[in-house]
Amino acid sequence: MDFALTPEQIATRATIDAWMSDKFPPEEVRRFDQAHEMPTHLLAGFGELGLLGAPFPERFGGSEADWITVTAIQERLGYHSAVAAAIYSITVDFGGMSLMTYGNDEQRERLMPDLVAGRSGFALALTESTAGTDAAAMRTSASPVEGGWRINGRKTWISCADAAQWLVTPCRSRRGSVGREGISIFMVPRHAPGIHMTKLPKIGNQSMTSWDIAFDDVFVEQANLMGPQDDGFRCLMSTLGYSRAGQAANAIGQAQAAVDMTLSHLRERHQFGAPLSQFQVLRHRAADMQMRVDQARLMLYRLAWMIGRGDRCRKESAQAKILASEALQYVTHHGMQILASTGYAAESDMNRYWRDGRLYTFGEGANEMLRDLIAREMGL
Ligand SMILES: Cc1cc2nc3c(=O)[nH]c(=O)nc-3n(C[C@H](O)[C@H](O)[C@H](O)COP(=O)(O)OP(=O)(O)OC[C@H]3O[C@@H](n4cnc5c(N)ncnc54)[C@H](O)[C@@H]3O)c2cc1C
Repeated sequence: MDFALTPEQIATRATIDAWMSDKFPPEEVRRFDQAHEMPTHLLAGFGELGLLGAPFPERFGGSEADWITVTAIQERLGYHSAVAAAIYSITVDFGGMSLMTYGNDEQRERLMPDLVAGRSGFALALTESTAGTDAAAMRTSASPVEGGWRINGRKTWISCADAAQWLVTPCRSRRGSVGREGISIFMVPRHAPGIHMTKLPKIGNQSMTSWDIAFDDVFVEQANLMGPQDDGFRCLMSTLGYSRAGQAANAIGQAQAAVDMTLSHLRERHQFGAPLSQFQVLRHRAADMQMRVDQARLMLYRLAWMIGRGDRCRKESAQAKILASEALQYVTHHGMQILASTGYAAESDMNRYWRDGRLYTFGEGANEMLRDLIAREMGL
């Protein structure tokens, strides 16, 4: 077993550090968060750096790297900024891996080069107001018409849709069907007539914008139906390993940033004539925080290794996502306690980690549902 990153992976991480410090430094991360705006310049930058093409074939401009490299990229982006890792993951895991896994050759030839170059953004439009964890309860419909389909319905909480050219949109395509049956996935052009978007206010992840999207008689060409008609739910499930690994990597990156910030504070802040780091209870808390992050990271990189081998990893992707999101909860909760008023201040990064981190235990598969999935995979 080799736990070390390769020299190429270490170099990629260093490239990310240098690029993020220049193009999206901490003061900019704070500024975008306070303005509730998306840093839309990141996507093109990730394209120029070759990050978006990491897992994809050379003929699309990719570098055919393994999934451990993709995971290392996502983790490092998350360390610098949650929204940076989110933009990367949505594009690669939902956009690119959907095209590669269940798109057809024509769709890949048409869409992958722009995706890899950072010229087109993607968003996943799955959730509806009455279909959250139970995504198969979706009601948005796609009806066949001359040359394509008409989509009607409403999706909600769709991240980064304002910067997307394409909405990966599962719809109920067989009239009268229920549950997982009769669902198809469409690549919907975001600027198609009939799409109306409303921004949703929220408590965290402010620069990863969230949108309610109404589809009023939106026409989609037949060429933009992805995967088999009426069997789209199975396709969605087949890409969950990638997106859960991406979510876990982002959470671990943020968690490590929160631990590092806590360590600096423990060293620098003095009370009762000594640095906080001399109080044993706080030393032990710091040790526990790093252990939680390291434990989650081990599970994540095992998952990345399994993805690279093409193994079935439903249980492992659920495990990695649960451990990472709960590690993030743990370290931001205790980080806030250790930074106290410094962390509670409006401009503190700990404040942002604490608010942003809350999403991860229920987004991308609620942890309760994922524990159920693990139990099922264990034969219960
Ligand atoms: C900031 C943000 C970004 C998002 N981005 C996107 C996006 O880009 N695209 C997209 O499609 N969606 C997105 N979502 C939606 C997200 O995926 C849903 O919030 C999530 O699936 C949970 O659904 P829900 O909020 O409706 O909660 P519900 O499904 O109503 O769940 C409520 C509670 O009940 C629990 N629960 C539900 N079912 C069970 C069960 N069977 N057993 C035990 N407990 C259960 C859940 O764990 C949760 O604690 C986003 C949400 C947020 C807040």
